This record gives sequence, C-alpha cells and structure tokens, in this order.
Amino acid sequence: MQQYVSRRFLSVLLILALLASLVVFLVQCGKTDSTGTDADAASAAETNVPETTQPTATPEPKSEDPYDAVKNYWSEDQLTQAWGPDQVVEHLFFHPIIAYPKYAFYESGASQAQRYGLDDWMVTVDEYKKIIQSVYDRGYILVAMEDVWSEVTDDSGTHMVRNTLMLPEGKKPLVISFDDVNYYPYMLEEGFTSKLVVGDDGEIWAECVDPYSGETFLTQDLDATPILDQFVYEHPDFSLNGAKAIFSLTGYEGVLGYRTQIDSQIPAGTEAEYEANRQKEIEAVKPVIARLKETGWTFGSHTWGHINLAQSSTDLGWVQKDTQKWLDEVGSLVGPTNILFYPHGARPDGDDWHTTGPKFQYLHDQGFRIFASVGVNSFSYIKEDISAVICDRLHPDGTTLRSGACIPEYSKFYDTYEVFDPIRPDLGNTWPTS
Ligand SMILES: [Zn+2]
Repeated sequence: MQQYVSRRFLSVLLILALLASLVVFLVQCGKTDSTGTDADAASAAETNVPETTQPTATPEPKSEDPYDAVKNYWSEDQLTQAWGPDQVVEHLFFHPIIAYPKYAFYESGASQAQRYGLDDWMVTVDEYKKIIQSVYDRGYILVAMEDVWSEVTDDSGTHMVRNTLMLPEGKKPLVISFDDVNYYPYMLEEGFTSKLVVGDDGEIWAECVDPYSGETFLTQDLDATPILDQFVYEHPDFSLNGAKAIFSLTGYEGVLGYRTQIDSQIPAGTEAEYEANRQKEIEAVKPVIARLKETGWTFGSHTWGHINLAQSSTDLGWVQKDTQKWLDEVGSLVGPTNILFYPHGARPDGDDWHTTGPKFQYLHDQGFRIFASVGVNSFSYIKEDISAVICDRLHPDGTTLRSGACIPEYSKFYDTYEVFDPIRPDLGNTWPTS
C-alpha cells in the first residue's frame, strides 16, 4: 500500500510542511522575506537508523508512583474558577527541540539550507526551558486538549461544544502539543535525541547519541518530553488533573523512535527479517506508550505520511489509504483519538471552516472531531454543518522568535528577547530597535 509515496518524497513533504507553515505565518505576520531553506535539504538529510546500543542505567524504581502527587495536587474544592466557552484556551506547539544547537547550526553534515530549516522551525533546549518556565510564571496551567471540547446530542442535533473548565483561582488554561514526535532518521544526525524509553526508575527518558563522542546515553535534560515531566514534578501546580501535552504523530518512520512502520521499499527476500524486527520494535514501544499515557500524555494523528490535505493531488483515495495506515500502524498502538493535526497546517478541501468537503467528511467519518492547524492565535471555531471544531495553535520557533511583528502575539507567553538563544546563527531579526 506504500507504492504511492516514497520515503524520499515523504522527507521532502516534511520540509514542505515546514515551508508551508512559514508561508502561512509570514503572511499573517506581515513579513515578506524568507531564509534559504529548500526541499533539497531533506534528501541530503536522509540517513540510516543508527544501531541500537545498550542504554546507560537509570535509578532504581520507586515504591510509590511520584506522578500521583501531580495528578492529585489540586483538590476539587480548589477548582473554583469557571473558564467559560467564550474564554480562550491558549495552545502552543513545538517541533522536536534541538539538543545540540552548536552541532545542529554549524557542525553537522547537513546542508546549509537544512541547518537554516532547523533554525526556522525548532527551538533549542535552552529556549524551550525558558518558555516552559515563563508560561508557568505567568499563571498558565496545562490542561488536556481532550477536555476542552465535547460532542453532545441535544434538540439541535449532535455537535461540538466548548466545555467550561474548572481551574484554580488565578490560573489560565494552556494546551501544549508536540508535532512529529517520531524521531525521523534525518534528525538523529543533526543534534537531536533518538527515542523515548522507560528507565529503570519507571520514568520516561530520552536516548541520545552524543554527536561528538558517539556515546549513547539516557537523559531527561535534552528532550522536550522528559524536560516537561521533570518540570511538572517540580511544579505540580502547573498541571490540571495531571495533564501534560499531546503528541501529534505520523507513522511513516514509526513512532517515538521505534521503527514500527510497514515498509514496502525493503529489498526482496528480506521481508521476514524486516517484519521480525518490526514486531520487536512494536513490543519495545508498548511500555513507553503505556507510561506516557499513565502520566498525562495523550496522542493525536498527524496523518501517516505527513500528507498535504489541501493539495488536489492528495485526492480522497490517498487520504483514505493514509488514514487507514495511521489507524493500523499508529492508532493500534496509541489508542483511539478524535484529534487531527493538519500537516503543513494545510486545511482539507481548501477551507475547512466555511465548507465541509469530501476529505473533511471522510476524516469525520473516521472519528475525528477536533482539527488543529497553525496560526497567530489560539482561534477556534465550532462548525455548524457537522459535529467538528477547527482550531489554531501558535508556534514558538526561529521564525516567530526573529520576527518583531510576531512579538505582540507571543508576549503574553514570554519575552522574546529573554528566550532567544544567542547560539543561533546571525540571520538578523526585525525586532523594534528602541
Ligand atoms: Zn509536522
């Protein structure tokens, strides 16, 4: 079923996705220029999956689950602030964060265009930590995206409603999503961590290969997921009912760093070996998914092949095949979801909130109800012709950090001047000078 799209094409698609959201954003922020990113960067970045090496040891398991203290931090009688349907639930999303910025920006074997692409679309570990600290300091509290809307049936039919959230006094709700938490092979060569694992202590760690020494080790300090886990342990008041963030997953390179995908491109005669390894990867990722789900993380679809739903060349048949593959290869592991994050921020059928076209209708038939794109604010719209909600997310990354025009949109979350990592290449910015 994969002959309709090759791996190389998928890599190009990822880059195009990034470009597409740049265009969306630049238009919205009134900026007209771009950096030298191009799709060739993707093919240059294609690499093989590194050999699995023995992770380093982590601490022994604890007798009690420390997450219980997070989940139970707020008691019901403290949740006295009603956050109604007309009040905005803010939503920020991140791509994987850059663990080794100096390597990623200056020293990896990637093309210059690819390095600029990382600069555009990712944040560094330091930037990410500052942003998390800042939204916490400014009174935001993490809520589960699944809790924000519900489907109800009443006299007017079946439709989505924005729920009233009950919060502690003084807190403001925030959803965080992480796109492409798949650990694509190209990223592993460019200064990113390589997979999520469960450590001996029962907690989530990231496996990482030091790009300088080649040493494989486990860390909770260089990857967005364990960093947020640790932050919430230190600041349990940052989480409502234990909520963390939602992963937006594709399937074409597997999930969470495990190569669980069915691959039709493998050489003839090696199918049995490939399938045996794939089954091992499936077994290996299960406890990781289980621990993530147990500790407040949730999962949505980013389509299997990171497909562009707006393009007419991505026809209904392609969307159907892709969705089935996501359900078979990803949904079978992470469980059901009604949330779809548009790759490229690209809306199906051209305009998803004024019209309901055949692709949108099909995705709805498959159970999706919440459709998330990318924008300059946490806009959301409940559709009237079909039971669905459309929503946008803001994207802290190099494009928005460099753009003075975007500073006002993000100033409620953090101070751009404080967050911007000086290790980034000197590509200029449009910050106000006075
Ligand atoms: Zn994506």
